[in-house]
Amino acid sequence: MPPDSPGGTTAPRPMVRQGSARKGWEDKGVAQPSFASRAYRDDAVVLRTHKLGEADRIITLLTKHHGQVRAVAKGVRRTSSRFGARLEPFMVADLQLVSGKTLDIVTQAVAKGAYGGDIASDYGRYTVAAAMTETAEKLTDVDGESGTAQYNLLVGALASLSRNEHAAGLILDSYLLRALATGGWAPSFTDCARCGLPGPHSAFSAPLGGMVCPGCRPPGSPAPAPETVVLLAALLTGAWATADASLPLHRKEAAGLVAAYLQWHLERVLKSLKHVERS
Ligand SMILES: [Zn+2]
Repeated sequence: MPPDSPGGTTAPRPMVRQGSARKGWEDKGVAQPSFASRAYRDDAVVLRTHKLGEADRIITLLTKHHGQVRAVAKGVRRTSSRFGARLEPFMVADLQLVSGKTLDIVTQAVAKGAYGGDIASDYGRYTVAAAMTETAEKLTDVDGESGTAQYNLLVGALASLSRNEHAAGLILDSYLLRALATGGWAPSFTDCARCGLPGPHSAFSAPLGGMVCPGCRPPGSPAPAPETVVLLAALLTGAWATADASLPLHRKEAAGLVAAYLQWHLERVLKSLKHVERS
């Protein structure tokens, strides 16, 4: 198996992941004497929902200050639900919750960003939002520390997507690169990702963390077009004028490299990414 393969297990993994300690969680989920003392309030984006019993849902949330939270929304599937559509995927809301032993309970939801409607009405944008929320769920599942930064990044990307500010595929790839960087896997698209030799370099290696010099380049590494490397760097730093001016073939090549990088570092295939249509 080539060292660049996302499924390879023999290649070295020199990238050290930072900040995976589960800090900031001590104040939540601890047994407390009264209902009131277990209540908390936080802004959250809905990552995913699934049915529970007849009328309830389990909502997977990325909160601004409490990391990833799984909570029950009671009666949310009834047409008369006081939650309305505020707990649908991609919605941002100001929530009141009560912490429980395994699942928290949502007691109140006030909409903050109604991105869900704009996104759900367009299949292309919907698939992009689904890939972003799936990535956020995976990244914050193992890393409570970067929760606030991941929350801000995701809400910003959803807002940009709902306003159609850039091509949906570019918003996605920019989000994925920045989410991975926030999670401790910052790629390098200029200096050699392994030895730091100043670039630009011509070979890409997902396991080594981005572009690599001729001395570090593993055999069989892809050599993307220079314009693709410029695009990847622009997406990572949010240089939108450069990204918006890129050509479709470079966008497509960049998307393939971002997907390889993401899957290598998440150590699994992102289910929703394969539904995203690339022009
Ligand atoms: Zn090198």
